[in-house]
Amino acid sequence: MEAERARTDKAEEADKAEGTAFIPALSAPSALSASAFSALSAVLLACSPGPPTPAPHGPLARLETSYQALRYWDDQRRLLGSLGAELTPAGLPESAVRESLAVARSTFNAKLTAGSSTPLSPADSGARATMVEAWSNGLSTDATETNDGERGTGNGDQCNYQPAELDLDRLTGRMYACYAQAANLIVVDGDTLNRLAILGRLPRTGDPARRRRLFLSLQPVWRSVNGDNRAGSPYRTLVRLRREAWGDTASPIERKGPAFGLAPAEMERWLTEALGESREAMPDSLLEPWDWYYYAGEASRRLSPLVATVADIRRVNDAWYTVIGAPPESLGIHYDLAPRPGKDPVAYTDFGSRNRWASGRLVQGEPWIFTAYLDGGFDNLSELLHETGHGIHIAALRTRPAWMDWPDNDTFTEALADVAALELYEPRWQRRFLGDSVPLAAALRAKYAGIVLDMAWALFEIRVHRQPEVDPDRLWSDITREYLGIAPHPEWSWWAMRGQLIDGPGYLVNYALGAFLTADLRARAARRGHPFGTGGPSLYPWLGRELFRFGLERSSREVLEQFLGGQVRPDPLLADLRRMAGGRTGAHR
Ligand SMILES: [Zn+2]
Repeated sequence: MEAERARTDKAEEADKAEGTAFIPALSAPSALSASAFSALSAVLLACSPGPPTPAPHGPLARLETSYQALRYWDDQRRLLGSLGAELTPAGLPESAVRESLAVARSTFNAKLTAGSSTPLSPADSGARATMVEAWSNGLSTDATETNDGERGTGNGDQCNYQPAELDLDRLTGRMYACYAQAANLIVVDGDTLNRLAILGRLPRTGDPARRRRLFLSLQPVWRSVNGDNRAGSPYRTLVRLRREAWGDTASPIERKGPAFGLAPAEMERWLTEALGESREAMPDSLLEPWDWYYYAGEASRRLSPLVATVADIRRVNDAWYTVIGAPPESLGIHYDLAPRPGKDPVAYTDFGSRNRWASGRLVQGEPWIFTAYLDGGFDNLSELLHETGHGIHIAALRTRPAWMDWPDNDTFTEALADVAALELYEPRWQRRFLGDSVPLAAALRAKYAGIVLDMAWALFEIRVHRQPEVDPDRLWSDITREYLGIAPHPEWSWWAMRGQLIDGPGYLVNYALGAFLTADLRARAARRGHPFGTGGPSLYPWLGRELFRFGLERSSREVLEQFLGGQVRPDPLLADLRRMAGGRTGAHR
């Protein structure tokens, strides 16, 4: 930690004196091999000629350099938590990280309070405002430790409660705890499984009766969210409390579309059009929900044995990203993929440290990817490619420290992660990287099964919050019958198995709307001479320059529309969905 403080102080001095070369540099605590270094140089050189260096300079240099140190230690603190470790990968004990973080906080706070007498340029004012906002939104404290008093593991007693007696925050926390408890431990046919394992087995289980048992073993999960579906159920109470809290303002769900210039009604129309298109490709007769998962799972059944272990999916993941010029190891991307007790079962990507500036040079950060994989398989490969998509995105950030962060919009962030990852669903890609492929229709069913389910959930959330009195079980069975071709089961709350429905209203809309963004981005990349099918090592540097580098420097909408040459359109996704129907599309559109 002393080294880091000394380094940043020195950088501050150096920044005043030095020029603005856009050159990669490595320094502690980054530990890369010589070959990795040359690969990094290649990536960065390919990025030049870049903008003038975003290294701290000018009247904000001291404040921004201390902000960068604060970010570094806060990232390291979260990294320790994610790893469940007492030492950082560089060997620092937790106490030292905490101490450095405390020092970094007080240094930044002192500089912020001291202010500056020099008038700031508009860019500097914006950067300062961003830092102040981050400071008051959690950087000043260990935010992740202080919120959600109701979180933690639910227990039997705790989960036997009266929803009406809790306020919105406490009900949200209680529901999530009880949901997590129910989802983490499910016994079926003598096997102890969890929600993800069951959903993972449905597409692979050949015996329909066993599929049905697997599916229905999720009932305790559904009940943890929606009880017996009476008006006082946890979820129905939650929806009412949310509506009250939101009042007449737009809900978080309704705000998703307008962030990209899309009126709420228009977004709903896009969703129903895409869902209608995918319905066209389905059999006319309705499928039971457990059979629907199986129907979508042909690609997974055929291709999973080709990447059976975690090592297999890592190998394919690394090979693909290397082909497009983004070898994960050279970009400083780290993986922690194995399960362990107490580990968050959700896959995610975070900054172990972010790219930072020292003496006018860029020091490569370390994106970290966390999952809990017991084995490989096609579906885990798909998820791993998505997470690495996040990793290569944040590895490409080239902006000043104030803006060195995820973009300002989650939908955009999720779409960026899929831009390269979705190539997995092309038969040609499968033959090249897996050695075998499934027919296009089966590949596209695999690609879109998750997306159309997310779209159905998005539609569900839009409608249930518009009419809080509606029966959610009835609403879900209507949506899934009409758009997914699933036999109605209004007697079950089988929609109630996504944690985001509890703690992130509208978050599932990210995935749904993100699919439109991704399809448009991929189509536009191809039209601009960078198709993914042929890949090539210039693809990543180009994406870095055009899409990935901005962080908070520009709004997501600005970056997106600059890249697309206008507003996002639904057509590329609808066209891709139409490929799924193949010969069935004649009569429709
Ligand atoms: Zn993601």
